[in-house]
Amino acid sequence: MILAVLTINIVFVIYLLERRLYRLSKVFIHVVSILFILTFLEALKFKTNNLYIQYLENIIGLTLIPAFYVFSKDINGEKTNIKERILISIPIFLLNIPNLFLFGKSDILLENRIFSMLLVIYGAIILFLSFSNILKANIKKSIKHSIILISSTLLFYISLEILFFSKNTLRILFSVSLSFFITMFILIRRSWLNILDELKDELLMSFSDGIIVLDNQGYVLDLNKTASKILNLNFNNIINKKLEESFNNDEVIFKNNTYYIVKKLSFKNGIVYLFRNITKEMEYSKKHTIADKLFSTLFKNIPDAVAIITPKGKIIECNRQFTNLFKLKRLENIESIVPSYLKSESKLIILEVLKNGYATYETIRKAKDGKSVFVKIRAVKFEIDDKVFLYTIYTDISKEKMLSSKLSNLLEKDPLTDTFNKTYIVKQMGNLSSLLYHSLILIDIKGFKWINSIKGHKFGDQLLREVSNTLKEFTKKEGLDVIISRAQNDEFWFLIKDLDIDPINALEKTKEIIAKLKKDLSTLEQNFFIGSYVFKNSEDLEEIIRKATLSLSKAKESNKEVIYSKEIEDQIQKEIKKENLIKIAIRNQEFIPFLQPISTEDRKIIGAEVLIRWKKDGKIIPPSEFLNFLEKSRKITDVSLQIFEKVMDFLKKNPKLKFIDINISPVQIKEPDFPINYLKIMEKYNIPSQKIVFEITENLFLSYDNTVKENISRLKAEGIKLCLDDFGTGYSSLSYLRNLPFDILKIDREFVKNIDDEKNINLLKAIYSICETFNLIAIPEGVENARQLEILSMIGFKLFQGYYFGKPQSLSEFSKLIN
Ligand code: C2E
Ligand code: CA
Ligand code: CA
Repeated sequence: MILAVLTINIVFVIYLLERRLYRLSKVFIHVVSILFILTFLEALKFKTNNLYIQYLENIIGLTLIPAFYVFSKDINGEKTNIKERILISIPIFLLNIPNLFLFGKSDILLENRIFSMLLVIYGAIILFLSFSNILKANIKKSIKHSIILISSTLLFYISLEILFFSKNTLRILFSVSLSFFITMFILIRRSWLNILDELKDELLMSFSDGIIVLDNQGYVLDLNKTASKILNLNFNNIINKKLEESFNNDEVIFKNNTYYIVKKLSFKNGIVYLFRNITKEMEYSKKHTIADKLFSTLFKNIPDAVAIITPKGKIIECNRQFTNLFKLKRLENIESIVPSYLKSESKLIILEVLKNGYATYETIRKAKDGKSVFVKIRAVKFEIDDKVFLYTIYTDISKEKMLSSKLSNLLEKDPLTDTFNKTYIVKQMGNLSSLLYHSLILIDIKGFKWINSIKGHKFGDQLLREVSNTLKEFTKKEGLDVIISRAQNDEFWFLIKDLDIDPINALEKTKEIIAKLKKDLSTLEQNFFIGSYVFKNSEDLEEIIRKATLSLSKAKESNKEVIYSKEIEDQIQKEIKKENLIKIAIRNQEFIPFLQPISTEDRKIIGAEVLIRWKKDGKIIPPSEFLNFLEKSRKITDVSLQIFEKVMDFLKKNPKLKFIDINISPVQIKEPDFPINYLKIMEKYNIPSQKIVFEITENLFLSYDNTVKENISRLKAEGIKLCLDDFGTGYSSLSYLRNLPFDILKIDREFVKNIDDEKNINLLKAIYSICETFNLIAIPEGVENARQLEILSMIGFKLFQGYYFGKPQSLSEFSKLIN
């Protein structure tokens, strides 16, 4: 019997541990262990009949009662707190106190009826509390009832044993052990299986994938709704029937317009098929395979070079055209095809694409063999899996660029001198550094027009080429950064870039360069006008050019190199103002003739010289203030004719005057219609040509040409007299006198002024005898006093001009004088 109980308990313990039931309730372990110990003690007691063992058995056995209470709580899912356990255990100890007193007085413990009664009552109370716990527990009703039934039966049996029968501990232990064993099987294990079953169903049904479970023979054991839908099977009709179809692992099937991938899981006793819907992925990848194919075909066959790069510039893919264009052997960083001076631009392009999504640039890239390639870059941004890439297309535009550069060369270069034209140099001036000072030097060939007309255009062209060569060589020799341009006709622009950061230094350098340049140019045996301006790019371009041009015109005027300065500007501004006033004066006929008498020794007025005056706001302004401008601007012709008309009118009214001297500017005499204009007016006032004397100066012979010659012949033929003015100054070449048909000679007042000088007297004597020889009338000018007159008369002169005889005066004053 003992052996049987022990075996049951051992099996029980092993089973509990093996199934890991202790996880459910520690109380089970407690109960089973106690039963085991009790059985063991009972076996010992049999042999020794020891009371101590029996006593020990009692105490250990009694702990089963509170243990049952704890078990009920566990089943209910509540945790027993220690207070409750202690409270429940107190009666056991109370019951054991009398036991202690009676100890040693034979085996009265369980025979004592009061004690037994109390024990049964205590057990009943605990059981009752435990039952209420079990009834509350969230387990199947049948299980609850089973527990209560078994427990009640057990208690009833034990109670009967204790109260009425002589105790049989072994029998009690046996029945307790057995009932626990049964309880465990019936209650615990079954409830566990239920949970697992439910879980399995739940899982199977809630799975979005289709699941079908077959046994080894292919009979359907179970399947979920998805699987029945996919396979078009009714659950009740297929269960336990053979499945006609069979599938391979990873097979893709197409059912009800849906793609599924099949996963086959083989077990020892069966097979599970898992069907997963992959329609979306299939369609996605289908679309993508088309797109991919299209893309790769395009990528391969597009005539342009294409590269896909990362934002860091790493080429991750490119077509053959790309490697061909840039002579690449392997995929490198995009930087490897960027010329060093364009590195920052390349980075900029990438940034622009990242920011705006696209960018287009026309720029230069270099191939691996070092050759430059003009390309048009078009780049767009795109994303794959949150990663950003740049799709960059490089179109080779080298050919177009070559063409257009040839064109722009044509447009920007002067074919004659192979220097740049004005358009180019002006464009370049806009690109100069705004930090440094630069110098624009304007070089003009003196009298180029004349050279061209006298020596021919071929010579002129050759001269221009020589000038440009000299300038080019000079640049090379001096190591200057210069743009040379033939800006117009014979005007070269010499732009020296980045001279200095300091304006004074830049000015000094410019002066130095001009001095050297002048020296080099002098080898060409020509005279040059040089005007320049030292400037910073912050100034307005037009203003820079204006100032340089101004300096050049000033240089032409002064016959010296001119570097633009504030003083020059002021001077020029003044002149400009005056010019404007003069223009207005012409319009208002403010230029009027004054007449200065030409008289005999006894002060008899024979003739007069017409001297121009500007009558401005009642003031009389002398010709030195404006004549220059009138000549430069060629307004002298009109003004002179205006005056001439006034004089002719005067002459008509004063026929006593034998002759009138008219000053003719070299500008006028070079004009082909010069004689006719004057003759017309003379005719208009009916003035005989014998009364007209035209005064010209030696300067005229500097530009003596056919027109001048013809004009003079024409005037002479009409009977007009010619006078060589200011004789004795300038060249004073006597050959002029011999070759030109002069009638009168005006001796410069310088000789008269210093008449006390013996040298001058001799010269005057010589001039007088020459005039006698050539049959010319000589008139000394600037006679201011009687003494001068005396000497001049002594020499032999008959006609005189000067303040001593009368100052230049208005027509009205002069008419009073002669009448
Ligand atoms: P010019 O032809 O030698 O004229 C004589 C100049 O000597 C005049 O000066 C006259 O005022 C000045 N003069 C006359 N007598 C004396 C004198 O006793 N002492 C001094 N110190 N000077 C005397 P003006 O009027 O100022 O004319 C200056 C020059 O302007 C002229 O020199 C002439 O070359 C030019 N000119 C004047 N009127 C005309 C004109 O209508 N047409 C052209 N083309 N030139 C003119
Ligand atoms: Ca004169
Ligand atoms: Ca004169």
